[in-house]
Amino acid sequence: MAGKLVILSGPSGTGKSTIAKQLLKNEKFNLSFSISVCTRKKREGEIEGKDYYFLTIDKFKSKIEDNEFLEWEEVYPTCYYGTLKIEVERIKSMGKNVIFDVDVNGALSIKRSYKEDAVTIFIKPPSIEALEERLQNRSTETDDNLAKRLRKANMEMAYARKFDHIVINENLENAVKEAEEIVEKFIP
Ligand code: 5GP
Repeated sequence: MAGKLVILSGPSGTGKSTIAKQLLKNEKFNLSFSISVCTRKKREGEIEGKDYYFLTIDKFKSKIEDNEFLEWEEVYPTCYYGTLKIEVERIKSMGKNVIFDVDVNGALSIKRSYKEDAVTIFIKPPSIEALEERLQNRSTETDDNLAKRLRKANMEMAYARKFDHIVINENLENAVKEAEEIVEKFIP
């Protein structure tokens, strides 16, 4: 099976990217990660063209004007993130399925475009307090960024019911198993 879209979303710090990595390792799902474009600063250890395509805000805006995005969002003030149409085409043309790690609006927007060819999975933290603790421990964020991410998390939690599936990440191993079961049914 190829050309199916698996969309992971949920607040930052819920373990979305760890779950995505585990799903990517599972060869039977034949998944490849959709590399997004973003305008935030590269974090230590991140690689251009692997984690993200890092662009200036001006370049990002010119891609919006040229209608190059499948979807894009100003996820945090002045931080733009988006999925390029050619990124999805690139992966599909390799005969693979696509996995996304995008914000809630991006997820629902991709689902609107691809309908039954896409499945949306909301990764939920056990509580906002647990999420705060995880973000603090991650220590990749400044206090200001942490506050921004927590404010957004509260809003994002309200979107959970719009997703095809909700996985609560209380225990990573179980959350990965649940996500695998969902993908297994979707990509038989
Ligand atoms: P981070 O800065 O932690 O890498 O990502 C911040 C948020 O942006 C995460 O919720 C992530 O899922 C989301 N994000 C990453 N790429 C995209 C994208 O292409 N489109 C949208 N809408 N959100 C994205």
